[in-house]
Amino acid sequence: MTRVFSGIQPSGELHIGNYLGAVQNWVRLQSQYECLFCVVDLHAITQPYDAAALPQLTIDMAISLYAAGLDPERCIVFVQSHVAPHTELNWLLTSVTPLGELERQTQYKDKSQRQESVAMGILAYPVLQAADVLLYKASLVPVGEDQVQHLELMREIARRWNARYGEGFFPEPQPLLTKTRRVLGLDGKAKMSKSLGNTIGLFESPEAIWEKLRPAATDPARVTKKDPGTPEICNIFTLHQGFSPPEVVEEVAVKCRTAGWGCIDCKRKLADHMIATLKPMRERAAELRSDPQGVKQKLRAGADKARALAQRTIAEVRDRMGFLKGD
Ligand code: SF4
Repeated sequence: MTRVFSGIQPSGELHIGNYLGAVQNWVRLQSQYECLFCVVDLHAITQPYDAAALPQLTIDMAISLYAAGLDPERCIVFVQSHVAPHTELNWLLTSVTPLGELERQTQYKDKSQRQESVAMGILAYPVLQAADVLLYKASLVPVGEDQVQHLELMREIARRWNARYGEGFFPEPQPLLTKTRRVLGLDGKAKMSKSLGNTIGLFESPEAIWEKLRPAATDPARVTKKDPGTPEICNIFTLHQGFSPPEVVEEVAVKCRTAGWGCIDCKRKLADHMIATLKPMRERAAELRSDPQGVKQKLRAGADKARALAQRTIAEVRDRMGFLKGD
């Protein structure tokens, strides 16, 4: 079966932006492919972070993934640092990675410009990403637009390694372009992100959801209830597409264009559907939170499965690269 790999940073609980942008799709993929979903804590340390908070943020992300619908019976969910071959393959791949390609990566340029002293981890970030995927010989990677360049580099690394050590050993991973939504923050300006404080958490109470949705940005052309709007440019409409059934999405589009209702009515309808969709997830998360040992056990079991696959690859990689066997 075709293997899929994807990772998410341990940023604590999911918000509706990363749910609609990635995880909702992962839940679908787990029944179509052999999937590995990884909480990428090794990637997280390339930016300033709080070491004391990292374990809880990692657990909270795992709880979010399970509660959102990733089922350990149907996919492998694990923490990156629990499977040591990720770091080993990362190092081995640096030997075939062209420095110039790393320096050309847009994300590297963006991140390094904002820092006085640039850590090598930021530059080498895509090499670790390549190791994550190639370790499992995954051939499909669900990616957002901002990751396409990294995926091209990943293929280049696989090609260079294969050319030197074994044609066809690593499959060249292809992007899995499925329909996901780019959700803006409630301010309607930037991408939804915790650091910008413009998010709705996946497990927020119905009251908190409404409190946040009520003042959220809409199409600025709708100054009064009588002004028609353009749903395609309104973030509330994007959210309807993520949470409301198709007939409601259709109703929203018509009523927006014809000024058939006010934005507050539109948002109330959205809140109702969002609350109904998120309710079972909030309940599952509460159950999981009450049993942190159980969550750790699930993660251990996931890491065991991932490690078994990873060890097979890394043993063959070592062999092909000419390392003397230690046993
Ligand atoms: S009616 Fe709905 S879709 Fe249209 S601008 Fe208002 S909130 Fe946005």
